[in-house]
Formats: sequence, structure tokens, C-alpha cells
Amino acid sequence: MTIQTATLGYPRIGKNREVKKALEAFWSGKSNAESLRKVAHEVELTNWKTQLLADIDCIGIGDTTLYDLVLDWIVRLGLIPERFQSLTGLEQYFAMARGKDGIPALEMTKWLDTNYHYLVPEIDQTLQPANFDDFLETVRRAQALLGERAVPIVLGPLTLLRLSRLELNLEQAVSHLLDRYLLLLSELKSLGVVEVQIHEPALVLGDTANFKALYQSTFDSLSRVGLPIHLVTYFDDLGAAYPWIVELPVAGISLDFTRGDNLALLKAYGFPVDKQLGVGIVDARNIWKIRPELVLSTLEAIQSVTSQVRIQPSASLQFVPYDAMRETNLPEPLRNVLSFAEQKLNEVAMLAHTLSGDDPGDRMAVVQTQWEAFEQFSPVNEAVKQRLRNLTIGDLERSLPYEQRQPQQPQLPPFPTTTIGSFPQTPEVRQLRVKLKRGEMAQSEYEAAIDAEIAKCIQLQEEAGLDVLVHGEFERTDMVEFFGQQLSGFAFTEQGWVQSYGSRCVRPPIIYGDVARTAPMTVREFQVAQSLTSKIVKGMLTGPVTLINWSFVRMDIPRSEQAMQIALALRDEVADLEAAGAKMVQIDEPALREGLPLKPERWNEYLAWAVDSFRLAASIAKPETQIHTHMCYSEFGDIIEHIERLDADVLSIENSRSNNETLFEITDAGYRHQVGNGVYDVHSPTVPSTEQMVQQLRTGVANLPVEQIWVNPDCGLKTRRWEEVIPALKNMVAAARQLREDSHATSK
Ligand code: GLN
Ligand code: ZN
Repeated sequence: MTIQTATLGYPRIGKNREVKKALEAFWSGKSNAESLRKVAHEVELTNWKTQLLADIDCIGIGDTTLYDLVLDWIVRLGLIPERFQSLTGLEQYFAMARGKDGIPALEMTKWLDTNYHYLVPEIDQTLQPANFDDFLETVRRAQALLGERAVPIVLGPLTLLRLSRLELNLEQAVSHLLDRYLLLLSELKSLGVVEVQIHEPALVLGDTANFKALYQSTFDSLSRVGLPIHLVTYFDDLGAAYPWIVELPVAGISLDFTRGDNLALLKAYGFPVDKQLGVGIVDARNIWKIRPELVLSTLEAIQSVTSQVRIQPSASLQFVPYDAMRETNLPEPLRNVLSFAEQKLNEVAMLAHTLSGDDPGDRMAVVQTQWEAFEQFSPVNEAVKQRLRNLTIGDLERSLPYEQRQPQQPQLPPFPTTTIGSFPQTPEVRQLRVKLKRGEMAQSEYEAAIDAEIAKCIQLQEEAGLDVLVHGEFERTDMVEFFGQQLSGFAFTEQGWVQSYGSRCVRPPIIYGDVARTAPMTVREFQVAQSLTSKIVKGMLTGPVTLINWSFVRMDIPRSEQAMQIALALRDEVADLEAAGAKMVQIDEPALREGLPLKPERWNEYLAWAVDSFRLAASIAKPETQIHTHMCYSEFGDIIEHIERLDADVLSIENSRSNNETLFEITDAGYRHQVGNGVYDVHSPTVPSTEQMVQQLRTGVANLPVEQIWVNPDCGLKTRRWEEVIPALKNMVAAARQLREDSHATSK
């Protein structure tokens, strides 16, 4: 018996980020639409050839995009909001992605629980004609190369709508769109396509039961076209909805066997004999090779339920980089156990061969040996393990409760002013690091140049009249990379780019071993800054949860344990900062919320260890040391008790919509610690006026005792220019002074 293989999507940015570069050239007017499309087509063609060469039977196609796949479906389905309708073609397309001449772009948000951002469709009654020409043209090109292996990827109607901003109810919206999907499927059928993938990842969300009837009627209609549908789900299991989802009238269903527990569902409820099961067994969200023994035992268990299986990655491979073999700077034993998109294709093929009983070179045994060599290369760090084993509940607790430690902490005027940490990262500052890396600058020269930036930054903050200062983070390219590079157990790639959104790519660090700190990481810059001023300078750290959530993590130990290891390293850093004279230490956790599991019933489990790891890092601080934390999002209502349990003395938060909604969520919950409700949006180049900030602070005063209020921008200033930052901070300080006068007047 030969077992088939499939893919559900591939990285589309280009092995050398060709599409990114072509986009930037196009936007800056250095090239035209034709050359942009040409580059994208070449990348697409290379992707297809790679998958063909790897002998994938059902190659997912049609997921290449110039910006975002959801945006492509917005255009194809005729869902263009009115404000863009006077534009056409690529101008319209990029206006929706990036805004144009004062027309605001579509909102961008994270795709389910990934770090990829999609553009949120805005859907009302008004539809424009659908146009599938570009998609059908892609299908024809793919067929010319791949023949029947070409399987078009279609974003499913219900996932599209559930992740949209809807001006009408879901039933109405579906009935609006259904004809268009029917048309698309019949066009595909007449092209001779043998199967279509309909991606419905929203099926794994916790509230899917509410949409049962809608899924049933929608797929009833779609199936009547007579084109075999493969329904694709990923990122979690189907939960309680499993029994009815597997009965939907489709030819096959893909399940993710790397997250959640689809295996238990499969065993409990079986799988329909008339359907293909797409077994998502090669993890598309991580960069590790498979563990042969684990994967084979899972596959065996699956095959004892159904034999109609097809081997594939768990989701689109867009979430991993292209090729691990290019990472020649990584130690070989590590590189040998990495699996990026190309390696994952080979793993899929290898597994299918093994199951079919014809793995010629016993490649599984080779992988096993590579893992053994890796374990030799990266042995367990007994000291770290021991420290974790010895932890007690007391290690997670500050020595005094907030009410008692607060009076011992620095006493500042009402409405104390501060910033979130970073100041402008100018091209000159970035150039310093490039020179250091190239060996064109000695470490001592580099440090002297950084210190000069720190000195300038301290002086400007004093001139602006801020109460609590920061050193400016000039030595950091990135808040995760900076720490990862100084911790053992972290590795960094050269070419490991993944798309974050549009032309934006990131290179997440890889956590491969036990994490430990080898030397202080931030103390030098703190001391330089503190020596230049009599005001308090905050020490500045990135928290354990953010370091975890923005990296590729290990699969051999739980995320919780990795977070606790990082927390230990940060705990030592907090102690060192304190010893060096820091009276305040900020531990940033901007990624705490985005690590929330897709199913709400798993939130508590995640938040329990996430908050514990923060507490482990922070609780070493003496009572008189003030711990700050910063989070850049604005929904707190549903996790407020966990925010409280962080037990930070001061919490600074985003408030970009400037409507104080976040503040109300916090005050409604009776939050008793101090809050810096961002008084202006750092993402906008506009300099906020004093009046505007006074207004916002007055609302704050109406809702929160004065003793609890801090005044700060809503995030770091690193992407802004000095010309914007200086007047903005002066206005902010003026606003705080105005409030001090107000409250003085009322207390008289
Ligand atoms: N301290 C960091 C900065 O100011 C925080 C960044 C963030 O919240 N993402 O840049
Ligand atoms: Zn932020």
C-alpha cells in the first residue's frame, strides 16, 4: 500500500526574501507592478518545484500573496470596504494593507495564536463583484507544472467571516458569500482540479458548537458542486465538536496531531470509513526534526482507527523558515536536528515511505542518531534543574504584600512621569552594531559610543522634566534577541526569516538547551545611566513569558519549565541591578496575552505558569525596590485576576484608542496597584498636545485614586524620531504638572 503525502501551504517570502525586497522597491517607486508580480511568480514556481522534487502528492497551491492571504480573499470575494472603492488594482490592494492619503488601512491582527498578522475584513451589506481571475490563472500555471498534484487552497467562508468585523449577522453574511464560493468551486472543477482544500481553522476555537448548523448547511451546499473537498483544520483539536465535524459532507478532513489531543478524539469516536484523514504530524509551527519513536507510535495508533491516511505538515509551512541546511554558522549537532520547510517536506515523504514499508536507507534510524548526537552536544544543565527542583512557594512571593512594601518604595510627586524604556534607534545607532559585528569597531569603542547615546538621552529626559528616567536601550536591536544572545541555551539563525506581516519578517531565536545566565546582562548600561543623574533610573528587562512566546521553543520539556529557567536567570539579574543601586526594575511582558491558548478552557493552565514565571523573576526584589511591568495591548477584562497575581507595583499599558476603555476594565475590577495608562499612542508620528493628555488624565482621576496614577507614553519610543519624542515628552510633563495643580486646588 502506498501512503500519500500532502502540503497545506509554503513560505512565500522567498528564500532570500525576494518578495520583501521587491515590495519595498515597488513602494518606493523603484520598480513597477509587472516586475513585482514577476518576482512573486518566480518564488511561487520555485516553491512548487521544491515540493514536486520532494515527491509530495497533493501540493497545496494558491497561497502565494503580495501581502496577506486574507487580503487576497477580500479582493477576490468582492469585500472591499467603501472607502477604498475609488481606487483600483495594486493601488487599492496596498491602500487596504497600509492606508493611503489619510484613508485608514484595514485593521491588522494576529492570525489565531500565531505571530503572523492578517488584515481584518470589514463586511457589510454592500458587495462588489467577485473576481477569481488571478486565482484561476495561478491554478492553471500550477497545473501546467504539477498536473493533478495541484490542490488549490481556499480560505473557508466560515473562518473568513468569524475572523472578520461583521456589520451583519453571520447567517446573513454566509448567505451573501455562498454563491461566490459555489461559483469558485465550479470554476475549479471545470479546470480539471481533482481536489480543493478548504481551510477552516476556526473549527478548533472553543465556541464552534454555536455554528454547527451553519457549517452543516454551508458544506451541504458546497459539496453539491461535485468537486471533492478536503476540509483542513489546524492549531488545536476539534474538542467536543469532533463528532459532527467529521460527519460533514466532504471527501477528507485534516487534523493537527501536534497540538491539542485529536488522537484521543479519534480513538474515542472513530473516523468515517468513507473519508481520507489528513494526518498533520510534522509540526509546522516549530523548527525541530521529528522524534521518530514518538511519531511512529502516534501514527500506529491513528492507523489502528483508520487506514485512509495521508501524511502532511500540521499546517501551512509559512510559519517556519525555508532551509536549515543554510545555517552553516550553527554547530553541526544542532543544525542536524533542525527542520525548516524543506526538511519538513522530506520528513513527510520519509514517513509516508516508512508507513508504506519502503524506507530504503532506514532514514528514521539516521534521525534517531542525530538526536542522540544532539543530546551529547547539549547536555542537561544539572545546576539549573537542581535550582528549579528546590524552589518553594515562598520563592514566588515578594517578602511583603503590596500595601506594606509600597510606603518603603521611592516617594514621588503625584502623577509621576516616565517612559517605557526605549528611545529612538537612529540609523547611526544601528550602524554601530553593524560595525562591531564586522570587526570594524572594537568592543570598547562600541561601548563608548553607546554611553554617549545614554548620556544624551539622560540629559534630554532631565530637560523634559521627567521624574523617572531610563537609559534608552540603545545597545538592544530587539528586546528578545538582546537577552537571548547573552543566555546559554539560545541560538540565532542567519537566514531563519518568517513573515510577520506584508514585507515584515522576523528571525525568532531558537531555545535549544537549558537556559542559564553566564554574566550580568544589563547592569553596565544601567550603571552608566544612573551615574549621570540624581533621578531614579529604571532597570529594564524582558520577561520570561515574552522571551518564550517570541522564540521557537524546545519540544522535549514543557514551555512552563523553559519559562521558569529563564525566570531564574532574570531573577539573578534583578538582584544584580538592585545591588548596583537600582530602585526600580521594569520587567516587560508585551507577549503575555498573545500566548493564550485558542480554547478558553486552557487559559488558566497557561496563565498559571506564565504568571508564576514572572513572579519568580520579580520576587527576589527587596520590598523597597519598585517592580514595574509593561504590556502593549488593551484588553484586560478577561484576565484581570491574573494581572493582579503578577503582583507588580506599577503596570503600564497601551491605550492607543485613547478612550480609557482599558483603564475602566482595570478600575472596575478594583485593581489596587499603580497604573500608567498610556497617555499617547507612540505608533503615530503626531505630537500629542498637552490639552489632549490633560483631558485623558482627568478621566483617569475620575476613576482611580490619584496615588495609583502614573503618566507615560503607551509603549517604547524606539521607532520614533527625536524631533517627535522631545516635544511629546515635554507636553506630557506639562500635562502631569497641570494635573498636580488641579488636585492641589481641589484639596485646598
Ligand atoms: N521596554 C521596551 C521598549 O520600550 C518595551 C517594548 C514593548 O513593549 N514591546 O521598547
Ligand atoms: Zn509596549
